[in-house]
Amino acid sequence: MPCCRTAGPELRVGVLALQGGFEAHARILRQLGAVVSEVRTAADMEGLDGLVIPGGESTTIVKGIESAALEPALRAHHEAARPILGTCAGLIVCDSEHLGFIDASARRNAFGRQLQSFEADLAVAGIGDEPLRAVFIRAPWVERHGPGVEVLASYDGHPVAVREGTVLASAFHPELTDDPRFHAIFMAMTTSARERAGEEAAR
Ligand code: GLN
Repeated sequence: MPCCRTAGPELRVGVLALQGGFEAHARILRQLGAVVSEVRTAADMEGLDGLVIPGGESTTIVKGIESAALEPALRAHHEAARPILGTCAGLIVCDSEHLGFIDASARRNAFGRQLQSFEADLAVAGIGDEPLRAVFIRAPWVERHGPGVEVLASYDGHPVAVREGTVLASAFHPELTDDPRFHAIFMAMTTSARERAGEEAAR
C-alpha cells in the first residue's frame, strides 16, 4: 500500500495489550508502515510516537491500567502531544469519566440488545467519498462532547468517530476490516506530531 506509507524514519506505534483486540490493530498498523510493539508496562511506552487503546472490555482495561501502574506513562504520552487512537472500549477508556483524554462521555453498550453487533457503511470526514464499512460490537456512542471535539462520523444521529487534538476515537472497530483508511488518519496525526516535536527540539 505505497499510498499510505509515511516518508522518513518509521513511526513507532504501541498497542495497549492488556486485554482485547490488539493483534488486529498491529497487523493494520504494520501494513501502513509502522513499527508496532505491544504495551503492558510503563517501560513499553518509551520512545513511542503513537498509542492505540483497543476494544475489549473497558472495565477490564481500566483495571489492567491500574494494576500495571500504567496511568502516569499514558498521561505523559498524552501531555507530550503524542497521538492516541481509542477504539470501542478504548474510546470509553479515553473519555471524561475515565482517563479524560477527550472532552466527551461515552454511553456503554449504547445500541441496545437488538443491535449488539452490526455493520454499517459510514461517511467519515477526512477519508474521501467512499464510505467506510464499520463493524460495531456492543459499541458505545458519544453521548456528550465539548466544543473542541470534532465529530468525524455519526450513526443514527449519534457521534461514533471523534477527534480532539491528538486523540482520535471510534465506537466501531476499524481494525476488523481490510480498509486501512481510519488508521491512516491516525498515522497522519502521528507523523505530524513527530514533525512538530522535531521542529521544537531543533529550536
Ligand atoms: N461493551 C464494551 C465495553 O463497554 C466495549 C465493546 C468493545 O470494545 N467491542 O467496554
